[in-house]
Amino acid sequence: MTLTTVKRAYNFNAGPAALPLPVLEQAQAELINFKGSGMSVMELSHRSKLFESVLDDAETGVRKLLNIPDDYSVLFLQGGASLQFSMVPINLFQAGRPVDVYNTGVWSKKAISELKKSAEYRVVASSEDQNFNYIPDWKAAELNPDASYVHITSNNTIYGTQWTEFPTTTAPLVADMSSDILSRPLDVSQFGLIYAGAQKNIGPSGVTLVIIKNELAERCPESVPTMLQYRTHIKEKSMYNTPPTFGIYIVSLVTQWILANGGISWIERETTQRASRLYQAIDASGMFYCPNRTEDRSKMNVVFRSKTHDDALESRFVKEAETLGMIGLKGHRSAGGLRASIYNAQTNEAIDALSQFIGEFSKKG
Ligand SMILES: *Cc1c(COP(=O)(O)O)cnc(C)c1O
Repeated sequence: MTLTTVKRAYNFNAGPAALPLPVLEQAQAELINFKGSGMSVMELSHRSKLFESVLDDAETGVRKLLNIPDDYSVLFLQGGASLQFSMVPINLFQAGRPVDVYNTGVWSKKAISELKKSAEYRVVASSEDQNFNYIPDWKAAELNPDASYVHITSNNTIYGTQWTEFPTTTAPLVADMSSDILSRPLDVSQFGLIYAGAQKNIGPSGVTLVIIKNELAERCPESVPTMLQYRTHIKEKSMYNTPPTFGIYIVSLVTQWILANGGISWIERETTQRASRLYQAIDASGMFYCPNRTEDRSKMNVVFRSKTHDDALESRFVKEAETLGMIGLKGHRSAGGLRASIYNAQTNEAIDALSQFIGEFSKKG
């Protein structure tokens, strides 16, 4: 039985999330005997030539898709985006030069609580006054040119807002792109460091992608534990210790899948169309609405609520959707309401099914 004959869920989970079916099928086909080695990728030595080529494919894929300049390293680390909340300040903060940070939701707040432990910082703008339903005007914030760096969360996974234009900064710009990496073209040279847990847009959990301008890694004091220094991982090409080999392999397949279909412009077109169809269905429903400012609506996490904020009705929506194969529509526990996560691997069929269901459910009342 191949996966194509297996019934697949309409998976709206926020992370870990849907992966492209062709990627899963290739992993299935190669699982037991990877490229004639007589073993799976999971069983290969990470020091073998064969695994080196997997790591190389993953790096090359990310580099091609984002057009990454040569003076940047692409790292595959562990510890999730959550470890990056600490690793970034430990490596990049310089005494007397407070970090400038934008507070746009739960993940920004988590990054801030780690900044408190190892750095000084200033919150330069926040959307907390309106329950994080918009992205603050970055031009209105007075950035300190001498800041150690500026930190943003490019897509707010829980509240469903997304930066469309990134701040122009003098200090290095650092972005948590966990939930929208590889969904749109980027000018990487605008950033000093980009990090992303893989489990939303680019692979399974257990891998964290870091893209860092090499010179920034030199700021880190040598006294910092070896594993926590970017310098270590740059020098050892993500192989200082055993990397998450299987996860890196899936990342390599995901990048090849995007490249084979037309690259970043293809994925941007697809994700934009899917998001706009879903928002249209919500706006037209009469029963539901999106609480976020229209121009800041996320193309990755579509957050919506019943107009009457009726929890019982929303639970019924989630339950009935599940019976139709639509999984993961309950909003995050800290935001409530409903959320459909529609990352790169989301299918048009799932969007059709959900849009149709929103219409029918609203009519039925
Ligand atoms: C999911 C998420 C995180 C947390 O990622 P982990 O890999 O679980 O640590 C951080 N930031 C954003 C924007 C996220 O979406």
